[in-house]
Amino acid sequence: MNPNFLQTPIAYLKGVGPNRADVLKDELGIETFKDLLHLFPNRYLDRTNYYKINQLQPSGADVQVVGKIVHIKTVEQKRGKRLVASFVDETGQMDLVWFRGHKWIKENLKLNEPYVVFGKVNKYGSTFSMPHPEMETLQKHQQGLKMVMQPIYPSTEKLSNKGITNRVISKMMQQLFLECKGKFPESLSGPLLEELKMISKSSALFNIHFPKNQELLAKAQFRLKFEELFFVQLRLISQNLQRKQKIKGMPFEAVGEKFTEFFENHLPFDLTNAQKRVIKEIRNDLGSNAQMNRLLQGDVGSGKTIVALMCMLLAIDNGFQACLMAPTEILATQHYNGLKELLENMDVKIALLTGSTKKSERTLLHNQLENGNLNILVGTHAVLEDKVQFKNLGLAIVDEQHRFGVAQRSKLWKKGSPNSSEDGGAIPPHILVMTATPIPRTLAMSLYGDLDISVIDELPPGRKPIKTVHRFDSNRLKVFRFIKDEIKKGRQIYIVYPLIQESEALDYKDLMDGYESIVRDFPQPEYQISIVHGKMKPADKDYEMERFVKGETQIMIATTVIEVGVNVPNASVMIIESAERFGLSQLHQLRGRVGRGAEQSFCILMTGHKLSEDSKTRLQTMVRTNDGFEIAEVDLKLRGPGDLMGTQQSGMLNLKIADIVKDNQILKTARYHAIQLLKDDPRLEKAENAPILNAYSKMMANKTIWNYIS
Ligand code: ADP
Ligand code: MG
Repeated sequence: MNPNFLQTPIAYLKGVGPNRADVLKDELGIETFKDLLHLFPNRYLDRTNYYKINQLQPSGADVQVVGKIVHIKTVEQKRGKRLVASFVDETGQMDLVWFRGHKWIKENLKLNEPYVVFGKVNKYGSTFSMPHPEMETLQKHQQGLKMVMQPIYPSTEKLSNKGITNRVISKMMQQLFLECKGKFPESLSGPLLEELKMISKSSALFNIHFPKNQELLAKAQFRLKFEELFFVQLRLISQNLQRKQKIKGMPFEAVGEKFTEFFENHLPFDLTNAQKRVIKEIRNDLGSNAQMNRLLQGDVGSGKTIVALMCMLLAIDNGFQACLMAPTEILATQHYNGLKELLENMDVKIALLTGSTKKSERTLLHNQLENGNLNILVGTHAVLEDKVQFKNLGLAIVDEQHRFGVAQRSKLWKKGSPNSSEDGGAIPPHILVMTATPIPRTLAMSLYGDLDISVIDELPPGRKPIKTVHRFDSNRLKVFRFIKDEIKKGRQIYIVYPLIQESEALDYKDLMDGYESIVRDFPQPEYQISIVHGKMKPADKDYEMERFVKGETQIMIATTVIEVGVNVPNASVMIIESAERFGLSQLHQLRGRVGRGAEQSFCILMTGHKLSEDSKTRLQTMVRTNDGFEIAEVDLKLRGPGDLMGTQQSGMLNLKIADIVKDNQILKTARYHAIQLLKDDPRLEKAENAPILNAYSKMMANKTIWNYIS
C-alpha cells in the first residue's frame, strides 16, 4: 500500500464525494480514509439469533423474528394514519407498524408468506409492536446471510437526515477495504503479538468492521483496545522518564534539624502509617537528583496538611524556601493559621499572601521573599503573579489541585531558583499536588501517568464514621428538631445550598428563602446564624466564617464556597439542600467538612420526591459508604472520565475504542507491557520493535490522539 494512501481525503472514496465528505467531517470528524477506518462500531447486532414472539421483552433492544403477516389495516389517528400489520408465529401475535410510506408497503407486502422482521419492539398493553421494521422474505434472508454480526456505527440526526445511514457507512467501509486490499501496516512487535496471542493489525481492523464470528470480534476488540492504551501509556511513561533524566532537581540531601525538631517536639499526634509511608516516598524523590512531580491523594480528613508541612521543613533544612497554594482565600487563611500554630515554637518564618493582602504588606513580603528572610509562603493564586519572586524556591505544594489549571501549574515551574541550571534558566522547584478528590487508580494512571502518585489510604485513629441519611423535604420539621437537639449538645451545623452558574439568580433566591425560614425557626438570641455566599465581599465572608470558627454562631448557611478544606472540628452536622443537584465528589467533599472532631457526626441529604435514576444512585452511594475511592469509582461510572475531570480537560481522554472504566484490565496489561518495553529497549532500537517505533513516531508527528497535558 502506498504509505500516503490512508491520508487521502475522504471525498475521493468511491461513493462519497464532496457533499457527503462535508457532512462526515462536521458530524463525525472524518476527513481522511484513515479517519473512516478508525470509526469503530458502537455495537453489533447478532443476526444469528431469532426470537419467538412469546420470548419478546420490552427491553428496547433490536430483535429478529420469523413469522407471517395475516392481516393488514389502516388506523386513523389524530395526525395522519398508521398502517398496522398483524404478524404471527406459532407462539403468538405482534404488530408491525408504519407511519409513512403506506402505499408502497401495502402494495409490496405479501400475506401468509414467511418473513424475517428486524427492529426494536415496544409493548402496548399486552401486545408487542415493531415500528418500521427492516424486513425480507425468509427465502431471501437465507440466501443472503453473509454478515452475521452487523456493526452499528455512531450516528447523528444530521447524518441520517442527509441519507448517511448505517448501511451507507457500511458500504463506504467495504469500499475502503476493497481499495486497500485489506492490508494495513503492523504497529506492534512480533514478540508482543505472540505473548498476548493477539491477531494482526489487518485482521483486527477487518474483524472490527466485518466480524466473521463472536470469537474473532472479541479478538479484534482486544487487539485494538490494547494498542490504543499501550501507546497512551508508552507516551506518558517515556515522558516521565525523560523528565527525570533531563530536568535536574534540587537535591535535598540533609534530613535536617527543623524536620527532626518538629518531629520530636512539636508533632501534636502520632503519624498514621500511611502518612509515614508517604513522607518517605516524598523524601526519596527530594533526595534524588530529579525534579519531583508527585500527586498526593488522600481522602478528606486523612491528614495531608501535616505531610505538606513536614516536606516544607525538609526544604528549609536544605536552604530552600517553600510555598503552599490553596484555591480559595478562606482555605489559604486557614492553612496559614493552622501552620503558624504548629510552628509556634520554632524558628520558621511564614507569611500569607492573598488577593486582599494590603499593598504595604505586599511590598514588605516581596522583599522578604527575595532576600530569603521568609521561609514559607502560604497563599492563593496571588502567589503566581510575576511580581512575586523567591530567592530560592525549592518546593511548591498545590492543595486541591483540580481547581488549578495546567497553565497555572506551569507558572509555578518558572518560579524556581534563577540562574542555577547549566543553561542559565531556572531549575524548577519540586512540585507536590494534593487532592482530596480521589481519582480511581485506573484513571489516575491514564491521566497522570507522567506524575508519580502517593496515596494516604488511612484515616487518623479515633474518627467515628459519619452517619449519612437521605430525607425528603416533607420531613423538614423533624430535621429541624434534630438540629436543635444537636445545638443543645453544643454542636455546630452547616446548611449548604447549591449554586450552579447557569441558574445563579434562582439559586441565590433559594439560599435567601432558606435563610429566612431558618431565621424564623431558629430565633435570636438563642440561636446565632452565619451566612456565606459568593456574592459577598471577601472581608464579609471572612468575618462570618470567623464567627462560626470561634463558635459565636451555631449555624452556618452557605453555598458551596465552603466546599474545600475548611476545618471546624466542633461542627458535626452537614445538611445539604437539593442534594440531588450536586455531583458525587462534591457531596463527598461537603460531607468531609464534618467528622473532624471527637463527636459523632451526621450528614443529611435533603431532596424532593422527584429523583432521576442517577440522582438515586448518587444518594444511595453516599448513604452506603464514606470511602472516597469507592465513591470516585461510582462517579466515574455515572459521569465518564471526561466529566470527572471537568470540561476543561475532557478532551484528554479522546479514546476511540477503549473505555477507561470497562477496559481497566486491558489498561493494566498495556501499562505493564509499556513499562517492560521501555526497560528492555528504551530507544526502541531493536529490529523487532521497529513497527512500534514507526507507529509511535507517526502519532507523535500527527498528534492525533495526544491532546494531552502539556
Ligand atoms: P485533609 O487531608 O483533608 O487536608 P487535614 O490535614 O486537614 O486533612 O487533617 C484533618 C484533621 O486531622 C486535622 O485536624 C489534623 O490535625 C488531624 N490529623 C491529621 N493527621 C493526624 C494523625 N495522624 N492523628 C490524629 N489527627 C490527625
Ligand atoms: Mg486539606
